Amino acid sequence: NRFLADAKPSATYKVMDRVAARRAGGASIISLSAGEPDFDTPAHVAEAGIAAIRAGQTRYTQVAGLRPLREAIAAKFLRENGLAVDWRDTLVCSGGKQVIFNALAATLNEFDEVVVPAPYWVSYPEIVQLCGGKPVTVACGADTGFKLTPEALAAAITPRTRWLILNSPSNPTGAVYSRVELQALADVLLKHPQVLVLSDDIYEHLIFDDLEFFTLAQVEPRLRERVLTMNGVSKAYAMTGWRIGFGTGPRWLIEAMEKLQGQQTSGACTISQHAALAALTGPQDFIHESRAVFQRRRDLVVEWLNQAPGLHCEVPQGAFYAFASCEAWLGKVTRAGTTLNSDEDVVNALLDEANVATVHGSAFGLGPYIRIAYALDDASLRQACKAIQGFGQALA
Ligand code: PLP
Repeated sequence: NRFLADAKPSATYKVMDRVAARRAGGASIISLSAGEPDFDTPAHVAEAGIAAIRAGQTRYTQVAGLRPLREAIAAKFLRENGLAVDWRDTLVCSGGKQVIFNALAATLNEFDEVVVPAPYWVSYPEIVQLCGGKPVTVACGADTGFKLTPEALAAAITPRTRWLILNSPSNPTGAVYSRVELQALADVLLKHPQVLVLSDDIYEHLIFDDLEFFTLAQVEPRLRERVLTMNGVSKAYAMTGWRIGFGTGPRWLIEAMEKLQGQQTSGACTISQHAALAALTGPQDFIHESRAVFQRRRDLVVEWLNQAPGLHCEVPQGAFYAFASCEAWLGKVTRAGTTLNSDEDVVNALLDEANVATVHGSAFGLGPYIRIAYALDDASLRQACKAIQGFGQALA
């Protein structure tokens, strides 16, 4: 397939392969490259999955998902996002990733453009490409808090633009869009009725400093008919392996995605859907507990990273990533004699010489940075950050 031939394998998986190879060689590596919470799925959620198996809930569901789950998703959108949603306008997929894939595959024609603010989650441009579209990346640097400005959005839109992808809190920067910032983007979008918007809210609950989360469809109701609001249980409830994501949007789009899914997976795993139902309708303490843990870790990690000579890290307001500039390290030589010419060199040297796995910013479309995922216990984070500090001190 010519689209697949052009697609790059995920950079994060590449790092994971290198880590596995080093570990197989006997090295003790601390991985700060994972994109998932380190917690177990809350017990009552896991038990709901087990109970579903015991109760014989092991057959196909409707393609779009179990009705009680779709109703719970509609209730979640109302409760948490102020969006009044008919359950028929929701769709359950095998992870948030499949929501994105279905949406783009259902709507893109060859050469349609998709505006992707950079740095971006590695999968966006690849999925766009696999679906025959053309990713149009827009550099959003530290000067704008790694966020898309209305001016940059307006400049990126052409008559061929079909989608804009927004992600807040962001992977890889942890940037969070305020209500005011979203409204400013909405004002531009209102002038371009051909543009659909994917709002990737998967890190919604990992938001710090008592900031309030906003999603585009809530901020600008006039865009409701053009926005696909995507979310899932992976990050909020530590359920990455259960593979449940969901979305809500205009009915024509949801129906098109359902049609596609009917010929693809036939629907998400039944057992996981029961577990997701328990997650959305049961006690929500886990969300608050994990947010507090991640905020504490963020504070520690950002402080430690900024103590490494030459590294610079702004304070991220969400998700579980720190995005540190390693610009001052470029051109320098490591203790083992490697010259650092790019952020990928930095990541490789950190792995080989400091036994710490990170991911290079250029894999997310903006270098020279390193992304540090702090989804690990405090002791490991401390050890890893000390090793990064030692690496920085030894540079000549
Ligand atoms: N969106 C972003 C920004 C992500 O970082 C991820 C996972 O890493 C996803 C979507 C996909 O999540 P899921 O596990 O629900 O497919």
